[in-house]
Amino acid sequence: MSSVERVYSYSAVLMGSPILLKLFEDNSSVAKAVFRLIKQLEDLLTVNREPSQLMTVNHAAGKHPVVVSQPVFELIQKAKSVSLLENSSFNFTIGPLVKRWKIGFHGDSVPPQTDIQNLLPLTNPENVELDPQTCSVFLTQPGMEIDLGAIAKGYIADRVRDLLHQLGIQNALINLGGNVLALGAPPHSTQKAWGIGLKKPFADPDALIGIMEVNNKSVVTSGIYERYFEKDGKIYHHILDPKTGYPLDNELLSVTVISDQSIDGDIYTTLLYGMGVENSLAYLADKPEIEAIFVTKSHQVICSSERQYRFTLQDSDFHLA
Ligand code: AMP
Ligand code: MG
Repeated sequence: MSSVERVYSYSAVLMGSPILLKLFEDNSSVAKAVFRLIKQLEDLLTVNREPSQLMTVNHAAGKHPVVVSQPVFELIQKAKSVSLLENSSFNFTIGPLVKRWKIGFHGDSVPPQTDIQNLLPLTNPENVELDPQTCSVFLTQPGMEIDLGAIAKGYIADRVRDLLHQLGIQNALINLGGNVLALGAPPHSTQKAWGIGLKKPFADPDALIGIMEVNNKSVVTSGIYERYFEKDGKIYHHILDPKTGYPLDNELLSVTVISDQSIDGDIYTTLLYGMGVENSLAYLADKPEIEAIFVTKSHQVICSSERQYRFTLQDSDFHLA
């Protein structure tokens, strides 16, 4: 056998993002099964296109509870509990504001302050009633909308991992539009870990600040450069502050989370974004299973403990703190 094994790449566009799967065997039936699973889960969870279980829940806001499938119920339950954490910047009922801003979609604009003030009361996570007996979800106020955009990809990535394991695939790389799952290790003789690029914000799509080396981890990045628009020299990006209804504004350009579960990565990027660097580092001190890399507007790269990864800086515009 050759010392460098061949890589087989498969791609699709799903969830509005390019999806890339790398395998070490020529196995298009595995790729098909993966893409089919992503499509099925997207159909349950999207809020951008009819019909989905989640849209049915949103349409029934203020009217009646809607029974959803067990996995959708559990994801909503999780999203609610994270939203109710003290000072959480994660809010899964942010939907009305996301829809009003339309950031990254056609027709985005800065809404009048009064619109934002009027929509904020519709984003109270307490007003989502969950009944585990029947798996039903009730948004008690008309106009409320659940948005799982900050958690769905992570959830889906974990299900893809489970499927690959079921199919006997231990080593693979999958990139779900920014949520990367690096399963096992690349079976090359020279490379012991997966090298995942840390994107350079507001630069060429292929430009990297550096490389993270990981084995068997999820790597999720949330950045203000991912979806945004510019108005009068100001950037309005897609991660909203649930307290103000405006894009979160602090020292950060991006947060990357390295973890075992991609759903944790997806949740923590949003939580840590809101906390800022200092509070995040203090918060993560007793959480060795969650690692993070912060990129700031002053071009600092700040790494948490590096127990679960190694980071190598490549771009001289940035500095390791
Ligand atoms: P992510 O790509 O994981 O950072 O998630 C961003 C998406 O989550 C946005 O496009 C919105 O759909 C949604 N979102 C925006 N702000 C919040 C927030 N504060 N809490 C939860 N979801 C949010
Ligand atoms: Mg997220």
